[in-house]
Amino acid sequence: MAVIGAGVVGCALARRFTLDGARVVVLEKAEEVLDGASKANSAILHTGFDAPVGTLEADCIRAGHAEYREIRERMGLPLLECGALVVAWTAEEAARLPALMDAARANGVDDVAPLTAAETRTLEPRLGAGVAGAFRVPGESLIDPWSAAHAYLAQALINGAELRYGAEVLGGRFEGSWSLATAAGTVAARLVVNAAGLYGDIVEERLTGASTFQIRPRKGQFVVYDKTAAALADHILLPVPGERTKGIVVCRTAWGNLLVGPTAEEQDDRATAALDGATLEMLRQRAEAILPALAGHEVTAVYAGLRPATEEKGYRVRADASRGYIAVGGIRSTGLSAALGLATHVRGLWDEPLRPLADPLWPEMPNLAETAPRDWERPGNGGIVCHCERVTRREVEAALTGPLPARTFAGLKRRTRVTMGRCQGFACGAELAEITAGRLAQPMLPDAATREGGDD
Ligand SMILES: Cc1cc2nc3c(=O)[nH]c(=O)nc-3n(C[C@H](O)[C@H](O)[C@H](O)COP(=O)(O)OP(=O)(O)OC[C@H]3O[C@@H](n4cnc5c(N)ncnc54)[C@H](O)[C@@H]3O)c2cc1C
Repeated sequence: MAVIGAGVVGCALARRFTLDGARVVVLEKAEEVLDGASKANSAILHTGFDAPVGTLEADCIRAGHAEYREIRERMGLPLLECGALVVAWTAEEAARLPALMDAARANGVDDVAPLTAAETRTLEPRLGAGVAGAFRVPGESLIDPWSAAHAYLAQALINGAELRYGAEVLGGRFEGSWSLATAAGTVAARLVVNAAGLYGDIVEERLTGASTFQIRPRKGQFVVYDKTAAALADHILLPVPGERTKGIVVCRTAWGNLLVGPTAEEQDDRATAALDGATLEMLRQRAEAILPALAGHEVTAVYAGLRPATEEKGYRVRADASRGYIAVGGIRSTGLSAALGLATHVRGLWDEPLRPLADPLWPEMPNLAETAPRDWERPGNGGIVCHCERVTRREVEAALTGPLPARTFAGLKRRTRVTMGRCQGFACGAELAEITAGRLAQPMLPDAATREGGDD
């Protein structure tokens, strides 16, 4: 079977089908994985407490959350179990909290707990003025969004799956089985799963002549505060959600800094998530209203991502059994959490008897999270290359080898966090260019770190 797209959803699909015994090929148009929507998000492993009740999205988030917790230790994947507070800032918002808790319970998240304004302040003493009440969602957690997806795909690859880069799917013919025309040659497959994210509708049109959904990219901009700010909030601080979006979140990251965002801005462009100063300033002001003590802390990075939203709210998963085609479209704002659950759901849509692998291999991912010991603390690491994020030479070397080596500078950043700290690569850019010379599919220029610093 062929998976189109190596975003987090395609990576999880490749893993599930490989473990269940299918011969899998992943076709990725870019020169690196996680190059679309999955390159920039909030990194929250959602429980699904606020998902629309009774939907596929709610089911997949619940299943994905559970499976991540089940497999993560075996793969060395981090989990920052901080829980979330949904904070009401007005009496009107406070009045909506009971209904939101009822919806959470209907979604199977029954450990939500109401908090008075005073109890909220006891849990988060640095919150700004105007807290009107809150509730706690203990299961909301933070993860490393890139190592998770890399681990899913690495497990598929070490158990026999194939990954082709530069393999944009241009079209296909179905005559009992598929013959896919890609930029890297023709590929035969009995089943095709379209996980092309921001290009899902275009891929569906290329394969079937018309698309049943339309992607409407929705941009989210973020501001990242320095690691010194992470101590200001223990929980993920969520607003009372709006109709279209979860709203502006303030939370720590697994890497030990503090994140504010995302916005929700409709745009036509599927490729570029541009940043703008006025919006970033608005985010900063909002963050400093939520946590006034942030005012004294440095912003070290800004970035933006694009959600593959569609004209409808729900996921656009559709199987056409007569053609061996499954669309996994419109996985707009919860795909990181739902990916493993979605993969199991999609596997169930293919009526093909397979023999699951009896004793699959498991990859061991390098830990970049501040919640567990890091490589710089161990001997023989070759010294620190990126001092802001404390990335060692051994970690950089490991990211350039193995089953899923970095092929671009952005890919190296996602695998190691080099240049993503305080100095944004000013100090280590030249050394990284030297280490990676001749080893990336797209060479890194000596000033790439500072030029590309904010893009993901
Ligand atoms: C601002 C923001 C915040 C978010 N926060 C969270 C969060 O906290 N928690 C959470 O669970 N989710 C979050 N999400 C959602 C999550 O990031 C997405 O749901 C997820 O990344 C979607 O992944 P995907 O694999 O469907 O798409 P993508 O990541 O876009 O992957 C699709 C892949 O297909 C490839 N492709 C496209 N066309 C072709 C073609 N013709 N041939 C071959 N390959 C092709 C692309 O290059 C790409 O690699 C957030 C998203 C955004 C933007």
